[in-house]
Amino acid sequence: MSAGAPPVVTEIARPWWDALARGEVAVQSCSSCAGWVFYPRPFCPSCGGRDLAWRTVDPAATLYTWTVAEAPVSPHFAHLHRPVLAVAELGIGVRVPTTLVHADPDDVRIGMALTPVFDAGTYPGFTLLRYRPA
Ligand SMILES: [Zn+2]
Repeated sequence: MSAGAPPVVTEIARPWWDALARGEVAVQSCSSCAGWVFYPRPFCPSCGGRDLAWRTVDPAATLYTWTVAEAPVSPHFAHLHRPVLAVAELGIGVRVPTTLVHADPDDVRIGMALTPVFDAGTYPGFTLLRYRPA
């Protein structure tokens, strides 16, 4: 599959991408309030703590919400046919924007179990976190 512009990796988000390349999902955890922090940030949005540690978490998820992009959301994605844009909720409660693969839009339901798909084939040098129905 061809693709448009690759992801932009910032230094603060690099551990996220490095974990995906290993086939893992890592999320920041705040040592002050024990809250999970996503997306990657230099401080905790709950308590302002700056002592954040990356922790590997179970990547299994449930479908929080979704939609079908009937029209391309960007010229970069014009080659995709009805992609399912979704938000996957990890067991720790963190909600991750993603796309579903191997999913018939007519069969997608909120709350359905999702299995991670570590997509290393769309952008050279990047692994994307996608999901498919479990
Ligand atoms: Zn905190």
